[in-house]
Amino acid sequence: MSDQESATEGANEVERTDREHVFGTWSYQKEVDPTQVVDASGVRFTTADGEEYIDLSGQLMCSNLGHSADRVADRVAEQIRDVPFVSPGYTTEARSELGRELAEITPGDLTKTFFSTSGTEAVEAAVKIARFYTGKQKIISRYRSYHGATHGSISVTGDPRRLMAEPGVPGTIKAPDPYAYGSTLDPMESLEYIDEMLTLEGDTVAAVVVEPIVGSNGILVPPDEYLPRLKEIAHDHGALLICDEVMSGFGRTGEWFGCDVFGVTPDIMTMAKGLTGAYQPLGATIVTPEIADHFEEEMFCHGHTYSGHPVAVAAGLAAIETYREENLIERAGEIGAYLGDRLDELDEAHPSVGETRGVGLFRGIELTKRADERVPFGEREDKISPGTTVVDEVAATAGDHGTYVANMINTLILAPPLSITEDDVDEAVEALDAGLDVSDDAMDD
Ligand code: PMP
Repeated sequence: MSDQESATEGANEVERTDREHVFGTWSYQKEVDPTQVVDASGVRFTTADGEEYIDLSGQLMCSNLGHSADRVADRVAEQIRDVPFVSPGYTTEARSELGRELAEITPGDLTKTFFSTSGTEAVEAAVKIARFYTGKQKIISRYRSYHGATHGSISVTGDPRRLMAEPGVPGTIKAPDPYAYGSTLDPMESLEYIDEMLTLEGDTVAAVVVEPIVGSNGILVPPDEYLPRLKEIAHDHGALLICDEVMSGFGRTGEWFGCDVFGVTPDIMTMAKGLTGAYQPLGATIVTPEIADHFEEEMFCHGHTYSGHPVAVAAGLAAIETYREENLIERAGEIGAYLGDRLDELDEAHPSVGETRGVGLFRGIELTKRADERVPFGEREDKISPGTTVVDEVAATAGDHGTYVANMINTLILAPPLSITEDDVDEAVEALDAGLDVSDDAMDD
């Protein structure tokens, strides 16, 4: 059997054609095996072979509204019929209204937004704005971070996805993270390290960019004092604080934004994903009045054909109305606490669970093959079948039990639609329970 034939064994026509003509992202192409989804509703989706799954990760931690937000779907359809597109030099009611709404729901005095179409573009804009505003070039970010795949954003990304793009954009420097479980540095010590870095770099750093709660690198929640102190340190050195809220925003944490958990207003904030609940591709970069004013006299040297795309901003506006009307932000806090309790039970029951952590409906389960030493299951040497790590296998087994869960490196990432119910959580926890038996079995003796 050829590689191509064995890779597509059991696939239907759509899956085979897709595999042949469409690149799979972030993958060895020989390992790509797309599954066709034919239906999605509420917190569930159905694949072409008739299997139904609870969407415990909200696809890529973005489907915050679930899969049947009618208000958003209707508004998108209406907007396409009324005014499908205008150049960014024109405006629409939805664009101006969404700009006003973002100024309202973001913390402090953040006031003026640049619209793009993705998280990575939102970060690109934040970095360029920080450089233009401060007149300085360097950007400090942290190792356990992800900020996007385009050249600037992958250069400020700290996780291994950056490696193939290195050396990347000059002036991008990495700092340690607040990772109490897995790092030798205490979270607050890691901050003093950043302070020292800023001193040693002299007056050359435009901004420090962080995810307030780290997402795909393992749901890392810093101590309460961390983010306020980081802002102070950055400002003491004349650098801006950029908070990347692409994953932590829009109710994930039980607050509108991750920064709200810590009572911090950054100088620049980036958003995407939950901004439209993933009904349309939309990114946003919002700044303070001081930064906005700077560009009254200096050129704002940035833009895209699709900046403020009428259909995408209409989806964003309808999404915010839906979060409000269905009380989803508060709900995420409540049901998130229930999910947290259920995960604690899994932690008790499974020796391969190193730690469960998170806030609201933004949670992680970190696995370990030697609990006493907190040793992670490795990336490739621990494969238990071709192309599969132990952690992949845990997720696949949860899938066999009807729950889709994403996994990154050594952690299962839980970020379901905010409309998930306790019954759905119970069903998903049962599937995780079955999955974690696999990692228990794969632990070192
Ligand atoms: N920032 C963060 C914190 C993210 O989690 C992501 C995507 N996972 C991005 C930026 C990039 O977003 P996108 O994939 O929409 O470009």
